[in-house]
Amino acid sequence: MERDMKFATKCVRAAEKPDPIFGAHTTPIFQTSTFIFENTEQGAARFAGEESGYVYARIPPNTPTHAVLAEKFAELEGGEAGQTFASGMAAITAISLTALKQGDHLISTDVIYGCTYSLFSQILPGLGIDVSFVDTSKIENVKQAFKPETKMVFLESPANPTLTVCDIAEIAAIAKEKGALCVVDNTFATPYFQRPLELGADLSLSSCTKYIGGHADLLGGVVAGSKAFINRMSAVVGYTGGIMGPHEAWLCIRGLKTLHVRMERHAENAMKVAKFLESRPDVEWVRYPGLSSHPQYELARKQMSGFSGMLSFEIRGGIEAGRRLIDNVKLCSLAVSLGATDTLIQHPASMTHACVPCAVRKKVGITDGLVRLSVGIEDSEDIITDLKQALKAV
Ligand SMILES: *Cc1c(COP(=O)(O)O)cnc(C)c1O
Repeated sequence: MERDMKFATKCVRAAEKPDPIFGAHTTPIFQTSTFIFENTEQGAARFAGEESGYVYARIPPNTPTHAVLAEKFAELEGGEAGQTFASGMAAITAISLTALKQGDHLISTDVIYGCTYSLFSQILPGLGIDVSFVDTSKIENVKQAFKPETKMVFLESPANPTLTVCDIAEIAAIAKEKGALCVVDNTFATPYFQRPLELGADLSLSSCTKYIGGHADLLGGVVAGSKAFINRMSAVVGYTGGIMGPHEAWLCIRGLKTLHVRMERHAENAMKVAKFLESRPDVEWVRYPGLSSHPQYELARKQMSGFSGMLSFEIRGGIEAGRRLIDNVKLCSLAVSLGATDTLIQHPASMTHACVPCAVRKKVGITDGLVRLSVGIEDSEDIITDLKQALKAV
Protein backbone atom coordinates (compact mmCIF):
# COMPACT_ATOMS: atom_id res chain seq x y z
CA MET A 1 0.00 0.00 0.00
CA GLU A 2 2.62 2.55 1.07
CA ARG A 3 4.85 1.61 -1.85
CA ASP A 4 2.12 2.85 -4.22
CA MET A 5 1.69 6.25 -2.58
CA LYS A 6 3.03 9.34 -4.30
CA PHE A 7 5.93 11.10 -2.56
CA ALA A 8 3.83 13.87 -0.94
CA THR A 9 1.40 11.31 0.47
CA LYS A 10 4.31 9.29 1.85
CA CYS A 11 5.69 12.43 3.56
CA VAL A 12 2.39 12.88 5.35
CA ARG A 13 1.34 9.28 5.92
CA ALA A 14 4.07 6.68 5.51
CA ALA A 15 4.79 4.64 8.65
CA GLU A 16 2.27 6.61 10.69
CA LYS A 17 0.22 4.27 12.85
CA PRO A 18 -2.40 5.37 15.34
CA ASP A 19 -1.36 4.60 18.91
CA PRO A 20 -2.95 1.20 19.69
CA ILE A 21 -3.53 1.97 23.38
CA PHE A 22 -5.22 5.37 23.50
CA GLY A 23 -5.65 6.09 19.81
CA ALA A 24 -3.41 9.16 19.83
CA HIS A 25 -3.43 10.65 16.32
CA THR A 26 0.29 11.46 16.16
CA THR A 27 3.16 9.11 16.98
CA PRO A 28 3.82 9.32 20.73
CA ILE A 29 7.26 10.19 22.10
CA PHE A 30 8.47 7.07 23.88
CA GLN A 31 10.63 8.80 26.49
CA THR A 32 12.01 5.63 28.00
CA SER A 33 15.42 4.02 28.27
CA THR A 34 14.21 0.47 28.78
CA PHE A 35 11.25 -1.85 28.12
CA ILE A 36 9.46 -4.26 30.44
CA PHE A 37 9.48 -7.96 29.54
CA GLU A 38 6.51 -10.17 30.38
CA ASN A 39 8.79 -12.91 31.70
CA THR A 40 12.37 -14.19 31.55
CA GLU A 41 11.59 -16.26 28.49
CA GLN A 42 10.54 -13.18 26.54
CA GLY A 43 13.55 -11.18 27.71
CA ALA A 44 15.88 -13.97 26.62
CA ALA A 45 14.14 -14.32 23.25
CA ARG A 46 14.43 -10.58 22.56
CA PHE A 47 18.11 -10.55 23.46
CA ALA A 48 18.70 -13.58 21.28
CA GLY A 49 16.91 -11.83 18.39
CA GLU A 50 14.41 -14.69 18.23
CA GLU A 51 11.49 -12.40 18.99
CA SER A 52 11.12 -8.92 17.51
CA GLY A 53 10.40 -6.11 19.94
CA TYR A 54 12.05 -3.49 22.05
CA VAL A 55 14.75 -4.11 24.61
CA TYR A 56 16.72 -1.01 25.50
CA ALA A 57 16.73 2.34 23.70
CA ARG A 58 20.35 2.05 22.53
CA ILE A 59 19.68 -1.28 20.81
CA PRO A 60 17.88 -1.16 17.43
CA PRO A 61 14.98 -0.76 16.81
CA ASN A 62 15.51 1.65 19.74
CA THR A 63 11.96 2.80 20.58
CA PRO A 64 8.65 2.86 18.63
CA THR A 65 9.21 6.59 17.92
CA HIS A 66 12.60 5.82 16.33
CA ALA A 67 11.09 2.91 14.42
CA VAL A 68 8.43 5.14 12.82
CA LEU A 69 11.05 7.67 11.70
CA ALA A 70 13.35 4.95 10.33
CA GLU A 71 10.49 3.37 8.39
CA LYS A 72 9.19 6.71 7.10
CA PHE A 73 12.62 7.75 5.85
CA ALA A 74 13.18 4.34 4.23
CA GLU A 75 9.82 4.71 2.44
CA LEU A 76 10.82 8.14 1.14
CA GLU A 77 14.22 6.95 -0.07
CA GLY A 78 12.79 3.72 -1.53
CA GLY A 79 14.83 1.51 0.82
CA GLU A 80 13.87 -1.71 2.61
CA ALA A 81 14.86 -0.44 6.06
CA GLY A 82 16.28 2.53 7.94
CA GLN A 83 18.23 3.45 11.06
CA THR A 84 18.28 6.73 12.96
CA PHE A 85 21.29 8.34 14.68
CA ALA A 86 22.20 11.16 17.06
CA SER A 87 23.71 13.11 14.14
CA GLY A 88 24.70 12.81 10.52
CA MET A 89 28.29 12.14 11.63
CA ALA A 90 27.15 9.28 13.91
CA ALA A 91 25.43 7.77 10.84
CA ILE A 92 28.55 8.10 8.65
CA THR A 93 30.71 6.63 11.46
CA ALA A 94 28.41 3.61 11.91
CA ILE A 95 28.30 2.98 8.15
CA SER A 96 32.11 3.13 7.97
CA LEU A 97 32.62 0.81 10.95
CA THR A 98 30.11 -1.67 9.52
CA ALA A 99 31.46 -1.70 5.97
CA LEU A 100 35.21 -1.33 6.56
CA LYS A 101 37.90 -3.10 8.54
CA GLN A 102 41.68 -2.99 8.76
CA GLY A 103 43.28 -3.43 5.34
CA ASP A 104 40.23 -2.21 3.40
CA HIS A 105 40.22 0.73 1.00
CA LEU A 106 37.67 3.53 0.73
CA ILE A 107 37.14 5.84 -2.24
CA SER A 108 35.57 9.17 -1.29
CA THR A 109 34.46 12.27 -3.18
CA ASP A 110 37.15 14.91 -2.64
CA VAL A 111 34.70 17.73 -1.91
CA ILE A 112 32.70 16.61 1.11
CA TYR A 113 31.34 17.93 4.36
CA GLY A 114 34.33 19.08 6.49
CA CYS A 115 33.83 16.64 9.38
CA THR A 116 33.37 13.71 6.97
CA TYR A 117 36.70 14.73 5.43
CA SER A 118 38.29 14.74 8.89
CA LEU A 119 36.77 11.35 9.82
CA PHE A 120 38.07 9.83 6.57
CA SER A 121 41.48 11.52 6.61
CA GLN A 122 42.30 11.40 10.34
CA ILE A 123 40.33 8.65 12.08
CA LEU A 124 39.92 5.84 9.52
CA PRO A 125 43.63 5.69 8.52
CA GLY A 126 44.45 5.16 12.21
CA LEU A 127 42.28 2.03 12.08
CA GLY A 128 44.28 0.72 9.12
CA ILE A 129 41.78 1.80 6.49
CA ASP A 130 43.27 3.30 3.33
CA VAL A 131 41.35 6.28 1.90
CA SER A 132 41.57 7.87 -1.57
CA PHE A 133 39.91 11.23 -2.20
CA VAL A 134 39.00 11.63 -5.86
CA ASP A 135 37.10 14.07 -8.03
CA THR A 136 34.12 11.77 -8.56
CA SER A 137 32.59 14.14 -11.13
CA LYS A 138 35.01 12.48 -13.58
CA ILE A 139 34.25 8.77 -14.03
CA GLU A 140 37.80 7.98 -15.16
CA ASN A 141 39.14 9.07 -11.77
CA VAL A 142 36.73 6.75 -10.00
CA LYS A 143 37.65 3.78 -12.20
CA GLN A 144 41.37 4.37 -11.67
CA ALA A 145 41.03 4.67 -7.90
CA PHE A 146 39.75 1.09 -7.40
CA LYS A 147 42.09 -1.40 -5.74
CA PRO A 148 41.44 -5.07 -4.95
CA GLU A 149 40.81 -3.95 -1.32
CA THR A 150 38.20 -1.31 -2.20
CA LYS A 151 35.10 -2.03 -0.10
CA MET A 152 33.21 1.26 -0.17
CA VAL A 153 32.68 4.28 -2.41
CA PHE A 154 31.37 7.34 -0.58
CA LEU A 155 29.72 10.05 -2.65
CA GLU A 156 28.33 13.45 -1.78
CA SER A 157 26.25 14.95 -4.57
CA PRO A 158 25.63 17.84 -4.78
CA ALA A 159 28.77 18.32 -2.73
CA ASN A 160 29.29 20.68 0.15
CA PRO A 161 30.14 23.53 -0.53
CA THR A 162 31.04 23.55 -4.26
CA LEU A 163 27.76 21.92 -5.40
CA THR A 164 29.77 19.56 -7.63
CA VAL A 165 27.55 16.77 -8.97
CA CYS A 166 28.66 13.20 -9.75
CA ASP A 167 26.94 10.46 -11.73
CA ILE A 168 25.45 8.27 -9.01
CA ALA A 169 24.02 5.61 -11.36
CA GLU A 170 27.26 5.13 -13.24
CA ILE A 171 29.46 5.04 -10.13
CA ALA A 172 27.03 2.69 -8.33
CA ALA A 173 27.21 0.32 -11.32
CA ILE A 174 31.03 0.35 -11.26
CA ALA A 175 31.05 -0.22 -7.49
CA LYS A 176 28.66 -3.16 -7.85
CA GLU A 177 30.85 -4.74 -10.50
CA LYS A 178 33.87 -4.39 -8.20
CA GLY A 179 32.01 -5.71 -5.15
CA ALA A 180 32.14 -2.41 -3.24
CA LEU A 181 29.34 -0.71 -1.37
CA CYS A 182 28.12 2.62 -2.85
CA VAL A 183 27.03 5.13 -0.19
CA VAL A 184 25.53 8.54 -0.95
CA ASP A 185 25.29 11.49 1.43
CA ASN A 186 21.97 12.88 0.19
CA THR A 187 21.76 15.72 2.74
CA PHE A 188 21.76 18.56 0.18
CA ALA A 189 19.15 17.14 -2.21
CA THR A 190 16.95 15.14 0.24
CA PRO A 191 14.85 12.24 -1.08
CA TYR A 192 12.38 14.80 -2.43
CA PHE A 193 14.79 15.80 -5.21
CA GLN A 194 17.10 12.78 -5.49
CA ARG A 195 16.75 9.10 -4.63
CA PRO A 196 20.18 7.43 -4.75
CA LEU A 197 18.82 3.93 -4.03
CA GLU A 198 16.67 4.12 -7.17
CA LEU A 199 19.84 5.08 -9.06
CA GLY A 200 21.55 1.91 -7.83
CA ALA A 201 23.35 3.05 -4.66
CA ASP A 202 23.34 0.71 -1.64
CA LEU A 203 22.83 3.30 1.10
CA SER A 204 21.47 6.83 1.21
CA LEU A 205 21.95 8.97 4.29
CA SER A 206 20.90 12.39 5.44
CA SER A 207 21.87 14.65 8.28
CA CYS A 208 18.41 15.22 9.82
CA THR A 209 19.85 18.40 11.31
CA LYS A 210 19.32 19.99 7.90
CA TYR A 211 16.25 19.63 5.66
CA ILE A 212 14.74 16.52 7.31
CA GLY A 213 14.17 18.27 10.65
CA GLY A 214 13.99 21.44 8.63
CA HIS A 215 13.77 24.00 11.43
CA ALA A 216 17.34 24.18 12.79
CA ASP A 217 16.23 22.92 16.19
CA LEU A 218 17.75 19.43 16.43
CA LEU A 219 20.70 17.16 15.61
CA GLY A 220 20.09 13.84 13.92
CA GLY A 221 21.05 11.43 11.16
CA VAL A 222 19.27 8.70 9.24
CA VAL A 223 20.26 5.95 6.80
CA ALA A 224 18.15 3.93 4.36
CA GLY A 225 19.18 0.79 2.49
CA SER A 226 18.81 -2.97 2.35
CA LYS A 227 17.49 -4.92 5.33
CA ALA A 228 20.68 -6.99 5.22
CA PHE A 229 22.99 -4.00 5.68
CA ILE A 230 20.79 -2.23 8.24
CA ASN A 231 20.66 -5.45 10.28
CA ARG A 232 24.43 -5.85 10.01
CA MET A 233 24.86 -2.24 11.14
CA SER A 234 22.65 -2.77 14.20
CA ALA A 235 25.54 -4.43 16.06
CA VAL A 236 27.71 -1.33 15.52
CA VAL A 237 24.79 0.88 16.59
CA GLY A 238 24.19 -1.15 19.74
CA TYR A 239 27.88 -1.31 20.71
CA THR A 240 28.85 2.29 19.92
CA GLY A 241 25.66 4.24 20.77
CA GLY A 242 25.22 7.49 18.88
CA ILE A 243 21.46 7.15 19.26
CA MET A 244 18.98 9.90 18.48
CA GLY A 245 16.85 11.11 21.39
CA PRO A 246 13.14 10.23 21.24
CA HIS A 247 12.10 13.88 21.18
CA GLU A 248 14.40 14.52 18.21
CA ALA A 249 12.93 11.48 16.45
CA TRP A 250 9.47 12.91 16.96
CA LEU A 251 10.56 16.33 15.63
CA CYS A 252 12.00 14.62 12.53
CA ILE A 253 8.74 12.72 11.95
CA ARG A 254 6.96 16.07 12.14
CA GLY A 255 9.55 17.69 9.86
CA LEU A 256 9.14 15.01 7.20
CA LYS A 257 5.40 15.69 6.99
CA THR A 258 6.15 19.03 5.31
CA LEU A 259 9.37 18.06 3.50
CA HIS A 260 7.82 18.24 0.01
CA VAL A 261 6.23 21.64 0.65
CA ARG A 262 9.37 23.16 2.17
CA MET A 263 11.72 21.79 -0.50
CA GLU A 264 9.60 23.26 -3.30
CA ARG A 265 9.94 26.71 -1.76
CA HIS A 266 13.63 26.31 -0.90
CA ALA A 267 14.33 25.39 -4.54
CA GLU A 268 12.11 28.10 -6.03
CA ASN A 269 13.79 30.76 -3.88
CA ALA A 270 17.29 29.40 -4.53
CA MET A 271 16.74 29.57 -8.30
CA LYS A 272 15.64 33.21 -8.04
CA VAL A 273 18.59 34.12 -5.81
CA ALA A 274 21.03 32.24 -8.08
CA LYS A 275 19.73 34.09 -11.15
CA PHE A 276 19.91 37.41 -9.33
CA LEU A 277 23.52 36.79 -8.27
CA GLU A 278 24.49 35.63 -11.76
CA SER A 279 23.10 38.85 -13.23
CA ARG A 280 25.33 41.01 -11.04
CA PRO A 281 28.59 42.33 -12.51
CA ASP A 282 30.13 42.39 -9.01
CA VAL A 283 29.64 38.63 -8.64
CA GLU A 284 32.52 36.57 -10.07
CA TRP A 285 30.71 33.23 -10.30
CA VAL A 286 27.66 31.36 -8.94
CA ARG A 287 27.32 27.59 -8.51
CA TYR A 288 23.79 26.23 -8.42
CA PRO A 289 22.90 22.90 -10.08
CA GLY A 290 19.80 24.53 -11.60
CA LEU A 291 21.80 27.12 -13.57
CA SER A 292 22.88 26.15 -17.10
CA SER A 293 26.33 27.55 -16.20
CA HIS A 294 26.83 24.70 -13.67
CA PRO A 295 29.54 22.31 -14.96
CA GLN A 296 27.30 19.26 -14.47
CA TYR A 297 23.99 20.94 -15.29
CA GLU A 298 22.81 18.20 -17.69
CA LEU A 299 23.73 15.45 -15.23
CA ALA A 300 21.96 17.28 -12.40
CA ARG A 301 18.83 17.52 -14.56
CA LYS A 302 19.04 13.82 -15.29
CA GLN A 303 19.44 12.49 -11.75
CA MET A 304 17.61 15.15 -9.70
CA SER A 305 14.00 16.24 -9.99
CA GLY A 306 14.86 19.70 -8.59
CA PHE A 307 17.93 21.54 -7.36
CA SER A 308 17.31 22.18 -3.66
CA GLY A 309 18.18 25.32 -1.71
CA MET A 310 21.98 25.40 -1.55
CA LEU A 311 24.25 27.61 -3.63
CA SER A 312 27.71 29.11 -3.45
CA PHE A 313 29.24 32.16 -5.08
CA GLU A 314 32.21 34.46 -5.01
CA ILE A 315 32.12 38.19 -5.42
CA ARG A 316 34.78 40.35 -7.02
CA GLY A 317 37.44 41.24 -4.48
CA GLY A 318 37.78 37.67 -3.11
CA ILE A 319 37.91 36.93 0.58
CA GLU A 320 37.91 40.53 1.86
CA ALA A 321 34.89 41.47 -0.24
CA GLY A 322 33.16 38.22 0.75
CA ARG A 323 33.71 38.98 4.44
CA ARG A 324 32.30 42.48 4.05
CA LEU A 325 29.26 41.07 2.25
CA ILE A 326 28.61 38.55 5.04
CA ASP A 327 29.09 41.22 7.72
CA ASN A 328 26.62 43.51 6.00
CA VAL A 329 23.60 41.24 5.52
CA LYS A 330 20.67 42.19 7.73
CA LEU A 331 18.03 39.54 7.01
CA CYS A 332 20.23 36.50 6.30
CA SER A 333 21.62 34.81 9.41
CA LEU A 334 25.39 34.39 9.72
CA ALA A 335 25.44 30.74 10.76
CA VAL A 336 26.76 27.38 9.59
CA SER A 337 24.39 24.43 9.05
CA LEU A 338 21.75 24.50 6.34
CA GLY A 339 18.21 23.55 5.49
CA ALA A 340 16.66 25.91 8.04
CA THR A 341 13.52 27.92 7.28
CA ASP A 342 15.61 31.13 7.38
CA THR A 343 18.38 31.95 4.92
CA LEU A 344 21.84 31.17 6.33
CA ILE A 345 25.08 32.64 5.03
CA GLN A 346 28.58 31.43 5.92
CA HIS A 347 32.23 31.36 4.84
CA PRO A 348 33.39 27.70 4.37
CA ALA A 349 37.17 28.40 4.20
CA SER A 350 37.14 29.83 7.75
CA MET A 351 34.12 27.94 9.13
CA THR A 352 32.68 24.55 7.98
CA HIS A 353 35.73 23.62 5.91
CA ALA A 354 38.47 25.24 8.02
CA CYS A 355 39.50 21.70 9.06
CA VAL A 356 40.31 20.87 5.41
CA PRO A 357 43.98 21.74 4.71
CA CYS A 358 44.43 24.90 2.65
CA ALA A 359 46.13 23.07 -0.24
CA VAL A 360 43.25 20.55 -0.42
CA ARG A 361 40.66 23.34 -0.37
CA LYS A 362 42.47 25.03 -3.24
CA LYS A 363 42.68 21.82 -5.25
CA VAL A 364 38.97 20.99 -4.94
CA GLY A 365 37.69 24.51 -5.60
CA ILE A 366 36.81 25.73 -2.09
CA THR A 367 38.27 29.17 -2.76
CA ASP A 368 38.93 31.63 0.07
CA GLY A 369 36.30 33.93 -1.38
CA LEU A 370 33.57 31.28 -1.62
CA VAL A 371 30.38 32.27 0.21
CA ARG A 372 27.77 29.59 0.89
CA LEU A 373 24.09 30.34 1.07
CA SER A 374 21.35 28.06 2.39
CA VAL A 375 18.33 29.75 0.87
CA GLY A 376 15.37 29.74 3.26
CA ILE A 377 11.63 29.83 2.71
CA GLU A 378 11.12 33.56 3.36
CA ASP A 379 9.76 35.70 0.51
CA SER A 380 12.48 35.61 -2.16
CA GLU A 381 12.17 39.36 -2.72
CA ASP A 382 13.26 40.04 0.85
CA ILE A 383 16.29 37.75 0.49
CA ILE A 384 17.31 39.44 -2.76
CA THR A 385 16.77 42.93 -1.32
CA ASP A 386 19.05 42.00 1.59
CA LEU A 387 21.80 40.66 -0.69
CA LYS A 388 21.48 43.77 -2.88
CA GLN A 389 22.03 46.14 0.01
CA ALA A 390 24.91 44.02 1.33
CA LEU A 391 26.59 43.98 -2.10
CA LYS A 392 26.25 47.77 -2.20
CA ALA A 393 27.95 48.04 1.19
CA VAL A 394 31.02 46.00 0.06
C1 LIG B 1 25.81 18.62 8.28
C2 LIG B 1 26.24 17.59 7.36
C3 LIG B 1 26.70 16.35 7.82
C4 LIG B 1 26.85 16.05 9.29
O1 LIG B 1 25.63 16.04 9.94
P1 LIG B 1 25.47 16.38 11.53
O2 LIG B 1 24.02 16.13 11.76
O3 LIG B 1 25.87 17.81 11.71
O4 LIG B 1 26.37 15.44 12.24
C5 LIG B 1 27.07 15.40 6.90
N1 LIG B 1 26.98 15.65 5.58
C6 LIG B 1 26.55 16.82 5.09
C7 LIG B 1 26.47 17.02 3.62
C8 LIG B 1 26.17 17.83 5.96
O5 LIG B 1 25.74 19.00 5.47
